[in-house]
Amino acid sequence: MSRILPADGVAFEFTVPVVVIGGGAAGMVAALAAHEQGAGVLVLERDALPQGSTALSAGLIPAPGTRWQRDAGIEDSPERFAADIIAKAKGESDPAAVARVAQAIGPALEWLADRYGLPFSVVDNFSYPGHSARRMHGLPSRAGAELIDRLRGAVEAAGIDVLCEAHVTALYAAGAAVRGVEITRPDGSVERVGCGALILACNGYGGNKALVERHVPELADALYFGHPGNQGDALLWGEALGAATRHLSGHQGHGSVAHPAGILVTWATITEGGVQLNAEGRRFSNEAQGYSEQAAIVLRQPDGIAWTVFDDRIAAIARQFEDFRQAEAMGAVLSANTPAELARLMKIDADALTATMADIDRLKAEGGTDDFGRSFAGSAPLVPPYRAVRVTGALFHTQGGLVVGDDARVLNGQGKPLPNLYAAGGAACGVSGSKASGYLSGNGLLTAVALGRIAGTAAAGAVSGETSQ
Ligand SMILES: Cc1cc2nc3c(=O)[nH]c(=O)nc-3n(C[C@H](O)[C@H](O)[C@H](O)COP(=O)(O)OP(=O)(O)OC[C@H]3O[C@@H](n4cnc5c(N)ncnc54)[C@H](O)[C@@H]3O)c2cc1C
Repeated sequence: MSRILPADGVAFEFTVPVVVIGGGAAGMVAALAAHEQGAGVLVLERDALPQGSTALSAGLIPAPGTRWQRDAGIEDSPERFAADIIAKAKGESDPAAVARVAQAIGPALEWLADRYGLPFSVVDNFSYPGHSARRMHGLPSRAGAELIDRLRGAVEAAGIDVLCEAHVTALYAAGAAVRGVEITRPDGSVERVGCGALILACNGYGGNKALVERHVPELADALYFGHPGNQGDALLWGEALGAATRHLSGHQGHGSVAHPAGILVTWATITEGGVQLNAEGRRFSNEAQGYSEQAAIVLRQPDGIAWTVFDDRIAAIARQFEDFRQAEAMGAVLSANTPAELARLMKIDADALTATMADIDRLKAEGGTDDFGRSFAGSAPLVPPYRAVRVTGALFHTQGGLVVGDDARVLNGQGKPLPNLYAAGGAACGVSGSKASGYLSGNGLLTAVALGRIAGTAAAGAVSGETSQ
């Protein structure tokens, strides 16, 4: 239920200068930034424990020009990162929006490390498709659960109020100005809290089947792998308040979710030289283009199933990810010394798999390009023991959303800012354009952290001097 109600005559129980809806990465970062500016902040989270899609993610955040890159001898810059984002989205993303986040993210990660003790490091042993430099940063476990736990810890240590089991079910507005929110508690009781500024950090609409059917029909029947509480409230409220929206068909899919285990199998399995086969033992695509667009491609295969095939060397790289270790522990990663033995474990045709593996050996030896356009130049051969995981395609999160300006304030259809409404993370339009293929790895947490910090700082600045709680 995402309604807009008239604010006239509403008695708010109390008023907070900056209210943040959503306790994922965007909301927590926004809260820290607003608090640092001296504003009173309240985070409202519908769940009993703030986690969001952030907790489900690998927690990897791309950032250029960081000190961790410099220490590892990696050359990079915001301009180079921006060019990669725009190239992946085939020029669809707004250059100003891209520059905004590409410049803000490096300083934001260093700020989180220095001020709040988040021990980031750069992933320097493999490259993600479309990134021209190794710039993915993560915490030691390389898991989003650690990211949200550490952000929540920082918010709590700063003394910022986080109200859980606080489902925001309506906004109170006077024209386009938001005056407060309606919170529905698990027992059905309702509370009303006033605000000076409102930051929407409640992600996109991946969990709302009707909105996915409308905006991302190719994944209408796909597994949704993100947080179920992300029901598109920000989009619906923003639209009702006259906000401009953009790229609503844009999304992050993923073509390698272990099935039926339901665990993400890192795309390093592919970028390091692995391949995908269908249940007939045949390759079907240039999987090196990116995992996001691969979701719909895998879903078009028989039974919507593919096999991600790699080897022991690649498994050792993938093992740095908690998800991969879990997939192995659950027995989802098969291992065999010959293609015929692998085929038997996979329950697919041995001759077909043997022929496909021989073809891959030849392409790698020649450094050739296959019929789908994938180049195997410089790709190490796959050697026994081979590994295989049965996977399917999934929707991770939506990338379209509310259009924001330089200060993360939501803009209306004429490009003018709404009085006091901000959006960050999946609530805002991302930088991936309108297609799955436009998603460059890390675009999700990029806008959560970068826009979260911008929104928190700007909202606090806008309300400074107003009455606090
Ligand atoms: C499996 C998986 C792996 C991923 N890996 C990566 C990665 O490695 N790198 C990357 O950049 N991105 C990744 N992503 C995408 C990334 O997780 C998201 O882009 C990012 O977490 C969005 O952050 P957010 O704060 O906007 O939303 P979230 O973290 O989803 O937080 C939104 C919060 O809002 C709450 N909420 C929603 N509506 C309301 C309401 N009405 N009232 C109160 N609370 C509400 C929700 O409960 C939720 O806690 C991945 C996604 C998935 C699913």
